[in-house]
Amino acid sequence: MAPGTVRAALVRIIPHLCAAAWVMARQGLNRAGRGLLAGIGSNCPVCEGAARAGLLCAACAQAALRQSAARRCPRCALRLGATQAGKHGGLCVDCALHPPAFAHTVTAFDYADPFNTLIARYKGARRHVVASALAQALEQAVRIEAAARVGSAIGPLPIDAVVPVPASRASLKQRGFNPAGELARGMSRRMALRLLRGVLRRRHEGAARQASLMRREREAAALDAYVCARRLDGLRIALVDDVMTTGSTADAAARALLAAGAASVTVWVAARTPRSL
Ligand SMILES: [Zn+2]
Ligand SMILES: [Zn+2]
Repeated sequence: MAPGTVRAALVRIIPHLCAAAWVMARQGLNRAGRGLLAGIGSNCPVCEGAARAGLLCAACAQAALRQSAARRCPRCALRLGATQAGKHGGLCVDCALHPPAFAHTVTAFDYADPFNTLIARYKGARRHVVASALAQALEQAVRIEAAARVGSAIGPLPIDAVVPVPASRASLKQRGFNPAGELARGMSRRMALRLLRGVLRRRHEGAARQASLMRREREAAALDAYVCARRLDGLRIALVDDVMTTGSTADAAARALLAAGAASVTVWVAARTPRSL
């Protein structure tokens, strides 16, 4: 091909190449821009108001804090009514009559409107969107509560390691992840605590989740539902779950942790069901 012909072909093709390059660059910039915006800001997962990426807005964080700091049974975090205050040494009736194996519970909020939507989304397809918000709310509850307990500035927590409540095989198959496990991972990262994964295991499947069983029967079946895969001598454990309903799961898990030598078990739950079912 003669040099003149090549030059002529280039003159014809270069504008097209430039246009194509510009379109590709613009698409790339758009993608990069969307990624950047997603990292900088997004809507609050509770109220849809403006918030930092994935986190609660200031108003919802405050609302969660008011809920976590409401009058609760210190043992199981059940919210107590005004008439229950001062009775049973500050405990709820259940904890006064049948003390659970765990010593203490901190919750981020009640499993009720508006925060129950967070749990529903967390267990659904949008878990990545709300995982940070759940850990954020639980962390602020733990830190504020710890400070209130010692009556001073926030110091080191009396916790050595974080342990998630293991999911059942059926739940893992359905969701593809363990909500308690993800939350425990977020808490260990945020609070610079050891995460002990796979230490607590379900001993057997089935009996504890049969809806046809009465509550007492479910509790009895759940009592030995967990076992520890290794010794935890002297460790102060934070047992993490997304929701506490009756407390029987946490009770059984705490029994296994204590049987493995744990010095104490504190429960951290994102949401506490207001009344026992
Ligand atoms: Zn909000
Ligand atoms: Zn209680």
